[in-house]
Amino acid sequence: MPVRTYFCLVIFWIILSLLILPALLKIAAPYGRHTRKGWGPSVSNTLGWILMEIVSPAVFAFFFLSGNGNSTVNMLFFALWMIHYINRSLIFPFRLRDNGKRMPLLICLFAVAFNSMNGFLNGYWLGTLKTYDTAWLGDMRFIAGAALFITGFAINLHSDNILLRLRKNKPDGSYQIPTGGFFRWVSCPNYFGEIIEWLGWALATWSLPGFSFALWTAANLIPRALSNHRWYKNYFPDYPKGRKSIFPFLF
Ligand code: NDP
Repeated sequence: MPVRTYFCLVIFWIILSLLILPALLKIAAPYGRHTRKGWGPSVSNTLGWILMEIVSPAVFAFFFLSGNGNSTVNMLFFALWMIHYINRSLIFPFRLRDNGKRMPLLICLFAVAFNSMNGFLNGYWLGTLKTYDTAWLGDMRFIAGAALFITGFAINLHSDNILLRLRKNKPDGSYQIPTGGFFRWVSCPNYFGEIIEWLGWALATWSLPGFSFALWTAANLIPRALSNHRWYKNYFPDYPKGRKSIFPFLF
């Protein structure tokens, strides 16, 4: 693909994330606690999560491996992407305790398109367009970005673990007030961690496709965190008052 076309696509993708943000602030995607009728055929949550998330590592790996960006640093980025997505597509879905909940197929298909585009833009960047040499490992952008990525990943994983454990002794699939970890400060620390993680990726790769993915992650997860937070406050009269939605001490 001509480089110019590739960058036009990245710019288009960035603009689209900004255009979609107001819609996401108004309409919470109808899965999980925001499930509603009227969104057409559905699939089980487990199958939905596998289908929609597996395309990201698959598309990323295809474009990465069919290019020539096989420096050590490029391989390291490849490994980070794979670690995140193997958890999300092949481990996380089997840990859900949702009492057979389903999600609309439409949501699943939107996510397939979203993940394919992000997988392509980032895989093609690392496979074909950019080779990082070993000196990049000593660059402050890489060091700070990698630290953010690892910290974000740890927060995301730890917070998801807390949530998934909440239903251990609740076979009815009911919701509980989560406590511990970053839940001390915010309602959706898993989303906070995910945003930090991809900001770290953007910084460590110092790339426009990395930035576009971080922007999309924030555009998806900030509105959803605001909806989840409102939902918690309505659902639980005794919900902790000082807890923010997503960013500790901010909002
Ligand atoms: P949620 O926090 O809404 O839910 C995660 C799991 O925990 C679900 O099984 C949910 O059940 C359960 N759960 C949540 N809250 C409670 C509670 N109070 N009591 C009991 N169980 C609870 O996360 P999402 O499903 O939206 O996202 C899952 C992961 O995917 C997150 O780590 C997120 O960061 C990531 N993600 C990333 C995106 C991106 O753009 N990069 C986009 C979307 C998600 P139930 O389904 O029944 O609500």
